[in-house]
Amino acid sequence: MRRHPWVFSGAIERVEGDPGPGETVEVLSHNGEFLCRAAYSPSSQIALRAWTFAAGEDVGPEFFRSKLEQAIAFRAPFMKLSDGACRLVNAESDGLPGVIVDRYAGFLVCQFLGAGAELQRGEIVSQLFQMLSPIGIYERSDVDVRLKEGLEPRSGLLLGEPPPPLLVIREKTCRFLVDIEHGQKTGFYLDQADNRAMLADYAEGAEVLNGFSYTGGFAIHALKAGAGRATNIDSSPTALDLAARNRELNQIDERSLENIEGDVFQVLREFRDRRRTFDLIVLDPPKFVESQRQLSRGSRGYKDINLLAFKLLKPGGVLFTFSCSGLVGPDLFQMIVAAAALDAGRNAQIIRVLTQGPDHPTALHFPEGAYLKGIICRVS
Ligand code: SAH
Repeated sequence: MRRHPWVFSGAIERVEGDPGPGETVEVLSHNGEFLCRAAYSPSSQIALRAWTFAAGEDVGPEFFRSKLEQAIAFRAPFMKLSDGACRLVNAESDGLPGVIVDRYAGFLVCQFLGAGAELQRGEIVSQLFQMLSPIGIYERSDVDVRLKEGLEPRSGLLLGEPPPPLLVIREKTCRFLVDIEHGQKTGFYLDQADNRAMLADYAEGAEVLNGFSYTGGFAIHALKAGAGRATNIDSSPTALDLAARNRELNQIDERSLENIEGDVFQVLREFRDRRRTFDLIVLDPPKFVESQRQLSRGSRGYKDINLLAFKLLKPGGVLFTFSCSGLVGPDLFQMIVAAAALDAGRNAQIIRVLTQGPDHPTALHFPEGAYLKGIICRVS
């Protein structure tokens, strides 16, 4: 297994006994050698997710305590702010397959995405409560991937007090409102925190376009760093309501921020037709490629929006472009962006390549964990 945490169902020769969903089983090679102790998920294609590769290690309370402690200790530098936010447990990459824990100010938000994580949920939640004394722990396992594991999507309070309708978190020089109960994912796109802050270097006086803005994180960072004006585009009206409130929270003038509810593909075409141009463009779309089958269609999606963005950039303008589709690797993404620049007739340079923040580490033996890629491009 070379420490990769997954075993696909097709690789299993036989199952001894009758393990239930999520139960910890011992995994042996064809010649009886110990491989790992793993959670069994009979209805999933990923039939086994390894908890430990150490033959003598028991998967009990002590095991979970030590994994959680390690993950949290590693985030200590990011946890200094009491009103900060960061990912505390990044599933497979922190040795806890299927377990996500995000911290927002005094609250924790968890996702349990596999049968094993689900079975250990009580243990994990009570240990987190003891270790971190949060005000409350809320569950946002309302995601479709659970269906592949034979689990229903679910959300609700797990322990402690329910979160207020909106929490305020601090991210570098900015503050953001987060709706833990109804926001996207666990409330906020924490993986982009460092990349949002990176806009500051290019923001001075800039006219900014923030495509797929969610609650306006990139735009707020740019405006705080001296951008002249910013335009958010998102299809979600609730996200844009929060974007407007985030503007107020950060004491940014109303005239500096425009929020457009719409489809980015369409709005960018309209801007092209009206010859609107920008100094700084951010494109942070949702996952266009969920499966191998969607690869060519999704790639075309990335190409289209980047082509439009290149057409809208003023000479010397800068593009921050992202893909969170794990199946689109960094090389392919760069090829797509290059093809888009070529078709737009623009010459561009890569200034920097970006990835998810350090609170979203990738285990070396789990390349699937590196899903977010970004490129900062400057056009001449
Ligand atoms: N950049 C954001 C996160 C973006 S997540 C941040 O830093 O917080 C992707 C966003 O794209 C979501 O808010 C979703 O509502 C929006 N979205 C998805 N498809 C869209 C489309 N076709 N047009 C506009 N917005 C879209």
